[in-house]
Amino acid sequence: MTTDIIVAVATAPGRSGIGVVRLSGPNLDELVRRLAGRALEARRATLTDFLGDTDEVIDRGIAIYFAAPQSYTGEDVLELQGHGGPVVMRRLVNRCVELGARMAQPGEFTQRAYLNDRIDLAQAEAVADLIEASTVQAARSAVRSLQGEFSHRITALLRELIDLRVLVEATLDFPEEEIDALKQAGTEGRLGLLQQQVLSVLEASRQGSLLREGLHVVLIGQPNVGKSSLLNCLAGEDLAIVTSMPGTTRDAIRLSADVNGVPVHFVDTAGLRSSEDPVEKLGIARTWTVVEQADVALLMIDAVAGETAADREILSRMPAGLPCIRVFNKIDLTGQEAEVIPEAHGSQVWLSARTGAGVDGLRQALLSLVGWEGRSEGVYIARARHITALNDTRAHLERAIAVGVAPHLELLAEELRLAQDALGSITGEHTSDELLGEIFSRFCIGK
Ligand code: GDP
Repeated sequence: MTTDIIVAVATAPGRSGIGVVRLSGPNLDELVRRLAGRALEARRATLTDFLGDTDEVIDRGIAIYFAAPQSYTGEDVLELQGHGGPVVMRRLVNRCVELGARMAQPGEFTQRAYLNDRIDLAQAEAVADLIEASTVQAARSAVRSLQGEFSHRITALLRELIDLRVLVEATLDFPEEEIDALKQAGTEGRLGLLQQQVLSVLEASRQGSLLREGLHVVLIGQPNVGKSSLLNCLAGEDLAIVTSMPGTTRDAIRLSADVNGVPVHFVDTAGLRSSEDPVEKLGIARTWTVVEQADVALLMIDAVAGETAADREILSRMPAGLPCIRVFNKIDLTGQEAEVIPEAHGSQVWLSARTGAGVDGLRQALLSLVGWEGRSEGVYIARARHITALNDTRAHLERAIAVGVAPHLELLAEELRLAQDALGSITGEHTSDELLGEIFSRFCIGK
């Protein structure tokens, strides 16, 4: 339980019609009385003066008081909706500090909501993800996580896992003959089913992680093949400088585009031709660094000139395992059809950055390369932490299944315990006390 009062401006800095100052703490009665000059009825918007030290009026606005535990944080919360100017906001916050509050740490309101069991860990993370969402799809999946869809699925898996543990742990002390009982209870079948469900949540989370992290795509190729033009085409504005002088794009140009709901971060790099110019050499070195960090590489090739020795050299230097799309540009000059040809570790895409023909095909090729299924239902915004936890769960279940219901039940029990630890870390709910309570409440061991 926290004992101090925290305060922060909840709205973005700058000037706006309304600015919100938010407070949370175990007991705000006294602070409310001094700031508003009277007590406030809970959950009622009240027009009031916000008073300074000598009862000077700092601002006049709406105050809403939420009495614990019916508030965002589970503590008393006060929201002051004042005029959205930086000076007003600063004076209001300073006044609250005078009255005993301290400045909140980043995320501290949500942290308190979690500590007070208003939301679980995955939901707390979804709050941040919703605010950070850069596409509609990402926002939708964050809302779903915030509403608890992801947590409910994890909790359902946890419940089944705990059930199985209860069975196994209770049998531990009564060997041999009890093993048959475990087998009869269908333990192995239930384990297999649970593993399938974990895999399906893992898959949905991988998709969700793509929505959160986005896809990093590096554009490489000889100067003048049309890299900047393609970027402009994808972004729909003139972000990169397009000129017909080879070697103009020296510094990496980054832009993020919403590609069918997935945030894609493109980096347009310096051309990779051999050069004696020191500035250009520097750019080329930087290009390879960017390539190493990308999820997908787009190698652009001038369809008129075809694949050159230089292109083949670039291809041969590509990091192993990096999916690569060879983009043949300028088909408007060659008269070829726009098309996508799948290949072993990538694809060929024929397009024209000038006319836009085939650019949609490139978008599709990009997303299918990273396994984006384009479904929006059942995808939860997920973090690397969730994926790791789900993967650990999967690994422990796999070992549990391999061990099976055998004479050495300890091994099975241990793998199940580790699987629960991993899975429970997602919602932050798991404690071993909980498991004990569960065991004792369901088995009468009173002897
Ligand atoms: P970069 O050096 O790879 O970034 O190439 P740019 O995007 O600057 O393009 C080089 C030249 O090729 C410019 O004159 C573009 O207008 C031209 N260009 C780019 N894409 C196409 C295309 O699809 N068709 C035609 N005809 N010209 C293109």
